[in-house]
Amino acid sequence: MAYDFDLYVIGAGSGGVRAARFAAGFGAKVAVAESRYLGGTCVNVGCVPKKLLVYGAHYAEDLEQASAYGWTTGEASFDWATLIANKDREINRLNGIYRNLLVNSGVVLHEGHARLTGPHEVEINGQRYTAEHIMIATGGWPVIPDIPGREHAISSNEAFFLKELPKRVIVVGGGYIAVEFAGIFHGMGAQTSLLYRGELFLRGFDGAVRKHLAEELSRRGLDLQFNADIKRIEKLDDGSLEVELKDGCILATDCVFYATGRRPMLDNLGLEHTGVTLDEKGFIKVNEKYETAEPSILAIGDVIGRVQLTPVALAEGMAVARRLFKPEQYRLVDYRMIPTAVFSLPNIGTVGLTEEQAREEGHDVQVFESRFRPMKLTLTDCQERTLMKLVVDARTDKVLGCHMVGPDAGEIVQGLAIALKAGATKRDFDETIGVHPTAAEEFVTMRTPTA
Ligand code: FAD
Ligand code: NDP
Repeated sequence: MAYDFDLYVIGAGSGGVRAARFAAGFGAKVAVAESRYLGGTCVNVGCVPKKLLVYGAHYAEDLEQASAYGWTTGEASFDWATLIANKDREINRLNGIYRNLLVNSGVVLHEGHARLTGPHEVEINGQRYTAEHIMIATGGWPVIPDIPGREHAISSNEAFFLKELPKRVIVVGGGYIAVEFAGIFHGMGAQTSLLYRGELFLRGFDGAVRKHLAEELSRRGLDLQFNADIKRIEKLDDGSLEVELKDGCILATDCVFYATGRRPMLDNLGLEHTGVTLDEKGFIKVNEKYETAEPSILAIGDVIGRVQLTPVALAEGMAVARRLFKPEQYRLVDYRMIPTAVFSLPNIGTVGLTEEQAREEGHDVQVFESRFRPMKLTLTDCQERTLMKLVVDARTDKVLGCHMVGPDAGEIVQGLAIALKAGATKRDFDETIGVHPTAAEEFVTMRTPTA
């Protein structure tokens, strides 16, 4: 049967654009549908605008510390509206770049909501198109738990477009988004509390990292409340919000921001017209080739709920494009040693196993840890400390994990990830000559195990 397209991609986000562009580049006839914004979550309401806001928040400490280096800066003030307008301009520019990338690589762009009408058919803007392969790359959407007054809460989607910086903010959650946005609001001068339902935030990260970041954030004056969960939110006559916690405690605030995870975006997608199945958490179930239970339909990225990171969606999109249209270049995506950063202030950078995971997996664990005051702060009053940690297998000498809390940890961990992926041993680290004077050199100078 002749199809309209070789590949029809639903969703022009990180994964969808990558798959579409590469497939078209390999000679396939490709269309991509996008209902909301080119570039998807990462470009519009994720990584990119978030990082711009983190840069914005960082100026608070830069300005504060400048006087120790002889600078007189005058009275500093911050204008949220200027930052948001400049951010919007940059995102518009990126949307244009994504449009050009697609069109110039020969991909047909359909702007509208796409719905599956069969295993090989998609409907969009009243038109139906057939394709040999259909890829679902529709990403995710924030989840706000069903509590009384949830309509008064915002998610990351709205946070990027607030008209003004709230004076007081309560951030709920203990994952990436909660920790990053608590740092953004706090850095910009809002009185910020972070509420997390468990004992300590950032479940899944190395224990020392979680504890160290909690200490540093508290030192900066961010109000961390663990074992805290909201029971109800009420809007008062003056427009402010009253928040009651499950333990009966009452808090007053101007903004409640939920960052409590993301669900797959499957709204009105027409899955019922196909054999696609979901896993126990509601994400689309795929095999190692990203095939759903309906063989002609593939799924990648956040909608499959494996690792919700842009570089992972890119790798998955590329793997599918290669397998279908350039098989000689096809390689499985390697989910081990995925480096990641939390752009909190200070950053977390991490790759490989945490100490806890290494012990669980039965390694004979050796830990090297260093805590120090970054050189840049030595002329200032700031007492912030950096943490660096290596988790090593004492039997094989292999470095299993590298963890850091400190300035530029996200930048530093990328290079370490290459070393770990190549199987570097502690001896390789020791024999690597440092770059002096940097914080990063500490990773090659830790000699004495601490555990
Ligand atoms: P998306 O990028 O979400 O793209 C899906 C696209 O599909 C969207 O454009 C959507 O409009 C479209 N769509 C959905 N349904 C339909 C339909 N029926 N028809 C047509 N189009 C449809 N990751 C990092 O690696 N680093 C970070 O620093 C980082 N920061 C983040 C910060 C925030 C606040 C958030 C929310 C996420 C962040 N992420 C980060 C995660 C990252 O954004 C996602 O992992 C990534 O965008 C997933 O890509 P995707 O292609 O699966 O989906
Ligand atoms: P996460 O899954 O990272 O964290 C969700 C947090 O919300 C957890 O602390 C969880 O607690 C808590 N939570 C879940 N349900 C509830 C509830 N009902 N009530 C109270 N708390 C709850 O999700 P995020 O929304 O922070 O981010 C989504 C994903 O986006 C991340 O996992 C990450 O993959 C990606 N991302 C990546 C970034 C980066 O690379 N820098 C930045 C931002 C996002 P518990 O641990 O107890 O379950």
